[in-house]
Amino acid sequence: MEARAGGRRNEESGGERHTREQGKAAPAPAPPRGSATPGTHLFLHTERRPLRFNRSAERSRYAADMASKRQIFVGGVPIGGGAPVAVQTMTKTETANLAATMEQIGRVAEAGADIVRVAVPREQDAEALRTIVKDSPIPVIADIHFNHTLALKAIDAGAHCIRLNPGNIGGREKVAEVAERATAAGVPMRIGVNSGSLPKHLHELERSSPVEALVAAAVEFVELMEGLDFEDFKVSIKSTNVPNTIAANRLLSERIPYPLHLGITEAGTKWSGSLKSAVGLGTLLADGIGDTIRISLSTFHAEEEVKVAWEILKALQLRERGPVLIACPTCGRLQFDMDSVVAEIERRLEGYAEPVEVAVLGCAVNGIGEASHADFGIAGAKNEGLIFAHGKPLRKVPQANLVDALFEEIDKSLDRGRVEVDEEKSREGAAWLAKIEEENAGELTPEKIAQMEHEAAEKGESDKVLLDEETSPTAGRRFTRA
Ligand code: SF4
Repeated sequence: MEARAGGRRNEESGGERHTREQGKAAPAPAPPRGSATPGTHLFLHTERRPLRFNRSAERSRYAADMASKRQIFVGGVPIGGGAPVAVQTMTKTETANLAATMEQIGRVAEAGADIVRVAVPREQDAEALRTIVKDSPIPVIADIHFNHTLALKAIDAGAHCIRLNPGNIGGREKVAEVAERATAAGVPMRIGVNSGSLPKHLHELERSSPVEALVAAAVEFVELMEGLDFEDFKVSIKSTNVPNTIAANRLLSERIPYPLHLGITEAGTKWSGSLKSAVGLGTLLADGIGDTIRISLSTFHAEEEVKVAWEILKALQLRERGPVLIACPTCGRLQFDMDSVVAEIERRLEGYAEPVEVAVLGCAVNGIGEASHADFGIAGAKNEGLIFAHGKPLRKVPQANLVDALFEEIDKSLDRGRVEVDEEKSREGAAWLAKIEEENAGELTPEKIAQMEHEAAEKGESDKVLLDEETSPTAGRRFTRA
């Protein structure tokens, strides 16, 4: 086996999208709103200085030299070899129920899944695959356990990839039969190892070193496939245990050059499962390990898994999709019902494909401050609020109109390809902001405390930042959640 090497692109895969014809790619459709592609320049009307969507200018800071060397194609989607990390999920419907399955595939594709997997436990599911593969907007992986005949049928039905555990399919001959059929059809495989189903001869090792046992099982499967002259595969090691998943994938990535599928088995509910997945997969992805991810959540709504996957990739700046919302944590200076406002903004941003970054500040005490890099933002107050773009005030609006006015500015700017600034309104907004900042100049806000801590740390005087609660009153509190 070769060593792992190569680099990962952190940008999107450009114009390549899935076609039903194996391994081919078709041009991507034109993005919505011509101005909205990553890297698009926006120009301030008055200053003519170039602006970019904030995140478009960003590049990943993470290691790129550990991505898998080998690349496979699932339909037209490249996995490994430096390709963008592919997002996949699995339908939760009875696969043979075509209406329900296709509806769910439509929803996950809409949410941004690059690939979808369907369970194939019965003959009728393998039969249904023909229609699913034909009608699916994204490549389809057939998930097979225990029955190699179903794997053969899934390949014949046109599945773009077969997920197989070589340890539970009935022996080397049956794996060989599937590998031969897959080779003839040009269909790749995912070979997977789960902590709950290790081969018997590794049970003792599993008791003393579960991580070594998982890796040993995966390496044995890799050697089995290589011995069958089949190398068109990706590998997964999955466990319900987050530290073991991290350690096992780190070890495996050093031992094999094949693409890695990452996931935390039975991660849990939308809340706990998302967090576990973010910690486990995020840690590996930050190290440059992992070529495709699936978030396993206990919800019927598979599109929720896709949304979580995207948030992880966006947080690591490995891929871009749609807007990013940033919001202050709120504190006793909060001056309006920010919970409702943030929820409303988040909901409305779901309708946007552009990588626009939107900031929501609970008060204007710190000015625009740390949100000055955002593409658009609002700073709320009791009666009025400010809309800003890239740190520049746009206009002051009544508090009740803040959200609508924010989206008016976003839509207008995206449609025109530039942010237009009415200088008079901008000056009025800046004066309003300056007045609030002046009135609250003495307040120790979280942002000012963070700034003080930062400055002290720079000088090596962290222990000198002593906060006096008397000078940090909550008397400025003007909104209550009660
Ligand atoms: Fe939010 Fe900071 Fe204002 Fe508190 S002081 S409401 S954290 S912006």
